[in-house]
Amino acid sequence: MNTDVLIRGARRTVLIVEDEAVNRDLLSFILRDTYDVLTACDGAEAMEILRARPGRIAMILLDILMPRMDGIEFLKRRAADEALCRVPVIVLTSDKDAELQTLKLGALDFITKPYDMPEIILARVQRIIEFVEDRQIIQDVERDELTGLYTRGFFFEYCRRLPPPSQPRDVIAVDVDHFRLVNEVYGKGFADELLCAVAEGIHEIVREGFGISCRADVDLFYLLLDHREDYEAVYARLMDRVHALSRQSNVRLRMGVYTGVDAARPLEWYCVAAKAACDTIRGNYARTVVLYDDTLHERELYNERLIADMENAIAQKQFTVYYQPKYDIRGEKPRLYSAEALVRWIHPELGFISPGAFIPLFEENGLISKLDDFVWRQAAAQIRAWKDRLGVDMSVSVNLSRMDFYDTRLKERLLEIVRENGIPVESFVLEVTESAYSQNMDRMLKTVGELREAGFRIEMDDFGSGYSSLNMLCLMPIDALKIDMKFVRNVASSVTGYRMVELVIEMARALGVPAIVEGVEDEAQYRQMKQVGCDIIQGYYFSRPVDAASFEPLLADL
Ligand code: C2E
Ligand code: CA
Ligand code: CA
Repeated sequence: MNTDVLIRGARRTVLIVEDEAVNRDLLSFILRDTYDVLTACDGAEAMEILRARPGRIAMILLDILMPRMDGIEFLKRRAADEALCRVPVIVLTSDKDAELQTLKLGALDFITKPYDMPEIILARVQRIIEFVEDRQIIQDVERDELTGLYTRGFFFEYCRRLPPPSQPRDVIAVDVDHFRLVNEVYGKGFADELLCAVAEGIHEIVREGFGISCRADVDLFYLLLDHREDYEAVYARLMDRVHALSRQSNVRLRMGVYTGVDAARPLEWYCVAAKAACDTIRGNYARTVVLYDDTLHERELYNERLIADMENAIAQKQFTVYYQPKYDIRGEKPRLYSAEALVRWIHPELGFISPGAFIPLFEENGLISKLDDFVWRQAAAQIRAWKDRLGVDMSVSVNLSRMDFYDTRLKERLLEIVRENGIPVESFVLEVTESAYSQNMDRMLKTVGELREAGFRIEMDDFGSGYSSLNMLCLMPIDALKIDMKFVRNVASSVTGYRMVELVIEMARALGVPAIVEGVEDEAQYRQMKQVGCDIIQGYYFSRPVDAASFEPLLADL
């Protein structure tokens, strides 16, 4: 699109293509007060002028009968040329029969010869130019610039205007798995090509029957289609496009489908549902297409309920902190080393809820910081209470979530809690999950460094579940490595599993910190862990997480 043409108020240029000089002069005379006028004697000369001034001509007035290249031939060539077909044409004719043919070739209007009504001719030219430019402006926002698909807003708007369907329809969400990573690993150029390839595939599918589609977000596409059953095949076709672009890349699409959309809810709702279905297989390479169903819907409702109830639950003290002991197994006899604070939600209607059900939800919407703050205060108060009542110095570790690191006052907040409860800072241990480290290494290095300088001890949680580099491990100041539970699970089942734990323990040695193994459930695992050289153990073998009162008997060992 050419902006010269679209600046409102600027003078447009009109091209008159007419072999008879008298007619050329007459039309020029009618238009020249309002427009800059160029003239050509036939279609071929008009083509030259248009090519020499791409995007500069706002309108063509075209005669049909001309030597060399006539008007019909000109219209055919124009239609085949992407740049030229945007320039509107009014046909100049005295032949009624030619009208239909020129309309079919893309002309927008006619002016009949002889030119005896100048005002009407000028008005027509003006109307067409305005109409075409308005449409162009609308198209520019209705289409996503990169892929040419509709934008989200226009998609919903057009869908709303559709007449009621005669047969059932489905909504499909298509998403690129780990798009952020694709962008980082393969670069923006590739990522853009990828999005265009997917969009082309979508466009092709949409064109086959009834269908409308859009690019709703960076790497998210929505389709509204007549109901079909072959979504695996649709998925395969989109993946073919991805593979055509690059065989090597590990790019994978995910597809969520809501079948049988009806008027009961707004289309946006169905799109969100399809997206939710699609999100259930994030990172799951075994599955490609998911249909939204009632269990998913129920889970969503349940999740929404948890989110809605959360703030009130804190105020009403529905959250309780449980403690799970960690035992030092280096000596003859296991010795209580510290405890991990783990939150529980005892909901008045939904009952006991484990953190696996709500922590990820709260991490997504930021509520987690509030909950963490509550747990930290509880844990600090507990350390203090045990000291006061039982005279013991017990260390307790609390979990920090990724979101907590976005708070620039994190260190001050933690110090405040420690100070308010009058406990030693080193007894308030911070568990930071490995995946948080890999997400923003520089910020993490800085914050964790500051926390340690302030006296906090840091344990790297779930080690082996993320993808931290060796380089980062060496730079990151930590006080213990907590090995992810899956390693213990694999020890019994395979030799490599055993070897993996050995390796991780060697890494902890190299870093000069103790290795903590979580999830040790039975005697056999305990023996294996001891044999492989693990320092500290946390797991059901010693104790499940229990409330503070139930934990107290264990303190007698200290
Ligand atoms: P995590 O930090 O890795 O905590 C260890 C989890 O392993 C706990 O699950 C614990 O109950 C469980 N566990 C311990 N020993 C065993 C065992 O022998 N076998 C098995 N199968 N599991 C064992 P829980 O309490 O359900 O907590 C799950 C996750 O929720 C935690 O994983 C942690 O990431 C998060 N979480 C819990 N409390 C909080 C909190 O207050 N704040 C934050 N941000 N996250 C929390
Ligand atoms: Ca933890
Ligand atoms: Ca853990």
